[in-house]
Amino acid sequence: MGTNICLVGIGKIAVDQHVPAITASDDWTLAATVSRAGIVDGVPSFTDFDQMLADRPDIPVISLCLPPVPRFDYAAKAIAAGRHVMLEKPPGATLAEVHALQQMAADKGVSLFATWHSRAAKAVQPAKAWLADKTITSAHINWKEDVRKWHPNQDWVFEAGGMGVFDPGINALSIITEILPFEMRLKHATLEFPSNRDTPIAAKMQWADNVSGEFDWRQTGPQSWDITVETTAGTAEIKDGGTRFLIDGAEQDTGEIGEYPALYAQMNNLVKSNASDVDLRPMVHVADAFTLGKRTVTDAFEF
Ligand code: NAP
Repeated sequence: MGTNICLVGIGKIAVDQHVPAITASDDWTLAATVSRAGIVDGVPSFTDFDQMLADRPDIPVISLCLPPVPRFDYAAKAIAAGRHVMLEKPPGATLAEVHALQQMAADKGVSLFATWHSRAAKAVQPAKAWLADKTITSAHINWKEDVRKWHPNQDWVFEAGGMGVFDPGINALSIITEILPFEMRLKHATLEFPSNRDTPIAAKMQWADNVSGEFDWRQTGPQSWDITVETTAGTAEIKDGGTRFLIDGAEQDTGEIGEYPALYAQMNNLVKSNASDVDLRPMVHVADAFTLGKRTVTDAFEF
C-alpha cells in the first residue's frame, strides 16, 4: 500500500492524467476525492473539502487539480491541516499567493510542490544537458494550438486569472527556463485580447539574448508545441511539448518516464525527504508579459 493521497477537482486533467498516474504507482493509494460533481469509481468521494480534512486524518498528501483562481483557498486549508500539497500548474493566480503558500508550508513543516508537467517531459533533461556547455545564439518558442480542442467550453481560461493563452504558454516557459543556461529577461510583448474576454488569445514576446516566443490559441490543423535553440555547435529542437529532442534534425534519445508519473515520483521524494520544490520563474515571465505587454483588441471569441 502506498501513501494515501486525495485528489481535488475531478475535471479534465485529473481524469486524463492524475488518476492513471496515481493508480499505476506503488508509491500511492488514491484514498479520496473532493469535487462538486466529479467522482472516481471505487474511491470514496467528498463534495466538501473541510469535511474530507476532518474525516480523513489518514490522508497526508493532497493533490489540487482545480483551476488557478479557486486553488489558493484549498492549498491554504490543506497546509493549515498539516497536509503536504501538490499544485497543478500554474501554481496560483498570483505570485504573492504562491509566496504565501511557501511560507505557510515552511512554517508547518510540510512539503509544497509546484508542478510543471511539461518540464517533466522526456526530452527536457537531455536537451538541458546538451545545451549546458553550448554558446546559444538564439532561441524561439512556437506554441500554437486550438483552444476549442484542448479546453472545450472551459470559460475559466478566458476569465481574469485564467491566463488565456498563457495557460498552455506557461508550459513552454517551464521548459525553456529549465533548458537555457541563463536567465531570461522580457524586453517587449504584444498581447491580443478578444473584445469579449478578460485574457489574451495570442501573444508575442521578445526577451534579451535573442530569445523570442509566439503563443496562439487560434491554430487549427497541425498543432505546434516546439522550442528551437540555435547554438554555434548546431540546432537543438525540443518538439511536441517536450517529448522529442533533435540535434540538427537527428532524433536523440530521451527519458522513458511520462510527465505525470514523473511528477508523482518527485512528490514521493519530496514528502520522504521533507522538502519543497517551488520554482516560480515560468510564472514571473507571464506576469512580466502582462505588466510590460502592449494590449491589442481582436475579434470576439466564442467556443
Ligand atoms: P477543469 O476540468 O475545468 O476543472 C477541474 C475541476 O476543478 C473541475 O472539474 C471542477 O470540479 C473544479 N473546479 C472548477 N472551478 C472551481 C471552483 N471555482 N471552485 C472549486 N472547484 C472548481 O480544468 P482542467 O482542464 O482539469 O485544468 C485544471 C488545472 O490543470 C488548470 O490549472 C490547468 O492549467 C491544468 N492543466 C490542464 C490541462 C488540460 O489539458 N486541460 C493540462 C495540464 C494542466 P467540480 O466542479 O466537480 O468541483
